[in-house]
Amino acid sequence: MRVSIVTACVLFVFSIVTPVSGALRAQAEPNDEETQAFVRGFVRFLAYHEAGHMLMGQIADMNRDPDWTNSDREDYADRFAMILLAPDAGDPDGVDEIISAAAGWLQVDSSIIRNEPHAPASFRAQEILCLLYGSDPDSFAEFAELAPSDRDCAADYQAIEADINEVFKDYSGETGQEIRIVYGPPNGGMQPARDFLFESGVMEDLKADIEFDFYLTHPTTIQAVSCQGKAKPDTFYTDRVRGATPDQDHFVISLCYEMIDERLKYGMRGFEESEE
Ligand SMILES: [Zn+2]
Repeated sequence: MRVSIVTACVLFVFSIVTPVSGALRAQAEPNDEETQAFVRGFVRFLAYHEAGHMLMGQIADMNRDPDWTNSDREDYADRFAMILLAPDAGDPDGVDEIISAAAGWLQVDSSIIRNEPHAPASFRAQEILCLLYGSDPDSFAEFAELAPSDRDCAADYQAIEADINEVFKDYSGETGQEIRIVYGPPNGGMQPARDFLFESGVMEDLKADIEFDFYLTHPTTIQAVSCQGKAKPDTFYTDRVRGATPDQDHFVISLCYEMIDERLKYGMRGFEESEE
């Protein structure tokens, strides 16, 4: 069972009015089906955000462009995720997941976030809702009042979509390098997180979506890994691993089991996400 649209919307509206309190979170049974649906939407959005970083680096070489600040790149990666995940109005599961991503940001406990290069969580949530509404204002009219009043969300959506279509997508009909998927060993009690990720199909969906629309010129891997003891233990991130020559650089998107495990156990608290 998934979170229904109505439930998720109510949750979302509630979150805007009142930051989710510890008391409310304590009432929720961790790791029930609603939590799982919620975490799946959030994890999918973050994985696609990292794919945005990967494509910006691999196709447009934007990650080294001095005209782009880190904050610009983070906003763009979020927009990238939103364009790739924008659901049809007739796809309730897709709509649920994207709303879960937005609602997930509103539950982030900002006091735990360290060295945050991204926009504030509430801003990221509003951005998702604005672009969801803007992707199909007639079908998603119910979200109009949740979008910022000073924005033309439909125009913004169309501009970003056109940008991605023109700069990033490939229309040759040929496929580039195949993405490798790796499930690393779930050390440190991460088996449930590994099983959850595998069952969600997020990495396989991402591989298919990227390979279908974009021409990858470099070796690329999406890996799930145990990150305990590493520099960034509970994050998703993207690396460009240097090869002998730049065209041999290897792009690696890493999804840490620990981040998924934390979310499944505690809902959405204590989130940190970074890149490169
Ligand atoms: Zn990022």
